[in-house]
Amino acid sequence: MARILIIDDSKLILHVAKTILNKQGHQVLLAEDGNTGLQTAATEYPDLILLDLILPGIDGYEVCQRIKKEDATSEIPVIMLTSKSEAADKVRGLEMGASDYVTKPFDEGELIARVNIHLQIRELHENLKEKNRQLKEMANRDGLTGLYNHRYFQETISKDFQRAIRYHESLSCVMFDIDHFKKFNDNYGHQTGDMVLKTLGGLIEELIRDSDLSARYGGEEFVLLMYHTAPKEALMIAERLRKAVEQYKFHADDLVLTVNISVGVAGFPHPEITDAKTLIECADKALYRAKDEGRNRVVVF
Ligand SMILES: [Mg+2]
Repeated sequence: MARILIIDDSKLILHVAKTILNKQGHQVLLAEDGNTGLQTAATEYPDLILLDLILPGIDGYEVCQRIKKEDATSEIPVIMLTSKSEAADKVRGLEMGASDYVTKPFDEGELIARVNIHLQIRELHENLKEKNRQLKEMANRDGLTGLYNHRYFQETISKDFQRAIRYHESLSCVMFDIDHFKKFNDNYGHQTGDMVLKTLGGLIEELIRDSDLSARYGGEEFVLLMYHTAPKEALMIAERLRKAVEQYKFHADDLVLTVNISVGVAGFPHPEITDAKTLIECADKALYRAKDEGRNRVVVF
């Protein structure tokens, strides 16, 4: 079942087309002139539009052009209803963005067939768009943890740093890794290590704010980007995360395991931090200091 808008100034045509389409299970919206049709298209966002070319006021060509020009309605297929048999009119309508035409008086079977074809094409198109969106999202994600990946993080922080400068916003970067993770992997195996990374990914997502961005930086290293957040505030969130990880019990077979993280925090504005690269480097330096000072702690640059 689809929602179909018919724009035609003939009450008879509206009635006949509506009856045919209703029988097919479609919901039908009606408009008797171009302006009403455009309004209905913009507010109701139908799945398909049947459009008469000769209308009082603005004609069908112009209605079609406007539907195709507006982002919100541009992808709605338009089938012209024309009583003219001249090829030139059909061509002009197709040039304005119409998908097809049906000549009046129309044959019931032909109208149904053409409507169904264009509904199918539209559905395929929508599915393809959704698939593309999913693929794009997958390409930005780390396969193991589900967090954003290194490449996406780098792209994002570059853009976000520019914005932070332009709008004088604070931006904090939190970098952390799992203490002695190599030893952990040696002791318990890489599968258990991967389980910890994966679980940690979920824990991070749960603990950070919706507005923060989290990514797997590489190996056992993670990074958070906190918007409108000064280092002081980032430190509090980082400390909360450090504690939560420290207390978390990872279950592997009949073992209950724990891990700790060392955390470095750096934030803009800061006299030494002038670009995204330096922001990351400073967070990394703070992380190394956290390691030097005995691990399982948060250090602010
Ligand atoms: Mg007419």
